[in-house]
Amino acid sequence: MDLKKLLSQINISADWIGLREVREKGTYRVIRDGNPQANGAGTSHGIMVEVLANGQFGYYATNDMSISGIQNAAAKAKAQAIHASEYSLYSFSEDARPKATGEYESSFSKAAGSVSAGEINEILLAGCDALKVSDKIVSASAYGLITETEFNFVSTNGSDINQKFLMVTSDFSATAQDGNIFQRRTGGRSGHQIGLEVFDKSNITNLCAGIGQQAVELLFAEECPTGTMDMVLAPDQMMLQIHESIGHALEIDRILGDERNYAGWSFIRLEDFGTLQYGSNLMNVTFDPTVEHELASYAFDDGGLEAQREYIIKDGLLVRGLGGKESQIRSNTPGVANFRASSWNRAPIDRMANLNLEAGESSFDDIISNIEYGVYMETNRSWSIDDYRNKFQFGSEYGQLIVNGKLTKTVKNPNYRGVTTPFWNNLKKVGNASTFGIHGTPNCGKGEPNQVIRVGHASPVCQFENIEVFGGV
Ligand SMILES: [Zn+2]
Repeated sequence: MDLKKLLSQINISADWIGLREVREKGTYRVIRDGNPQANGAGTSHGIMVEVLANGQFGYYATNDMSISGIQNAAAKAKAQAIHASEYSLYSFSEDARPKATGEYESSFSKAAGSVSAGEINEILLAGCDALKVSDKIVSASAYGLITETEFNFVSTNGSDINQKFLMVTSDFSATAQDGNIFQRRTGGRSGHQIGLEVFDKSNITNLCAGIGQQAVELLFAEECPTGTMDMVLAPDQMMLQIHESIGHALEIDRILGDERNYAGWSFIRLEDFGTLQYGSNLMNVTFDPTVEHELASYAFDDGGLEAQREYIIKDGLLVRGLGGKESQIRSNTPGVANFRASSWNRAPIDRMANLNLEAGESSFDDIISNIEYGVYMETNRSWSIDDYRNKFQFGSEYGQLIVNGKLTKTVKNPNYRGVTTPFWNNLKKVGNASTFGIHGTPNCGKGEPNQVIRVGHASPVCQFENIEVFGGV
């Protein structure tokens, strides 16, 4: 498809026009208890036409990609812009859509299609078998989601962007039962920009055997202790902690009051940028779209802003928000290239992308050996946070008690609660690069109509002190 030619044929008068074409192909494979349960494939392809008129952006999406279809969409987008200008909060110019040209392609070793559907199913079946380490495993499942996406963007001020992504999300889950006690252990439901090299039979069967063993171990484990103590979080729990209590809180559209859905406001005010000590001075958080294999790496956001690594929190101080160009202009606050749409039929809004906690100095042994009494937790299981993104309560799948500098017995149902800035100010040690894990989820929801989008969160192992820890489901 020649997007530039389509753009040149649109016959409306407007201050700016952009075309964003998205083509996405997804394949979903699920094995449950040894039986293939789902083998789905779907394709989505269309164009979003954006028009700037009277200081407002209007949007109209279509999957009729003929010139008459695009012309019709452009006329309707313009009508939306004119109508919206009657209720204008801010009058935008073309500056909100900077000219951008370039390409991006995610890295992989094995291309989509290089492993047959049959082979993938066979590997997932082997994973499912490996999860069943004993008769106590009453349910086992394995899934793989392979997504290929291509974004093309052109605009009347000369933008021309092509970005291609290959992504795989996989997970393995074992549910164990003993009497009326149930415990579920998973691989953490993580996604990456990567190829079909993920489907390596021996890696997957080893991983699954460990998951199955830990599910059984949890059945006979003591309850997590209750009290105020040291807590150590693995990267696959830090992912949720970063997402809910940093990411959503710092989205500038929420702070501006636009976005109130899904626990959608924030305790942060615009004057907090540059002044609020969000966490201890060990806390360094970056928006980093450059990390290889992280799920939301890219070169440009959907407003055409070039994506760069930026500190969001530096030595504990809040310095920058998660807002794209429109939010930056409106709030007069520094932001990042995170104006993103989940597909061709959605308008971009401020989204997290890769939001990471930077590695520190401590080895895993340094952290554990200096703790007299505490709990180490792996893999998120549950989450609850208020709509100011302030008070929260999170749970993990797997815990281990730390006593006198050593990891000791396994504990089940580990949970903790806190309030965002006191919690992050209790960050006592940050693990080094050897403890660092890259995770991501394709399922961050926001907006109305709903937009489910991919985000990445990488983190080292971290120690927090004076945390309210408790057991129970
Ligand atoms: Zn989210």
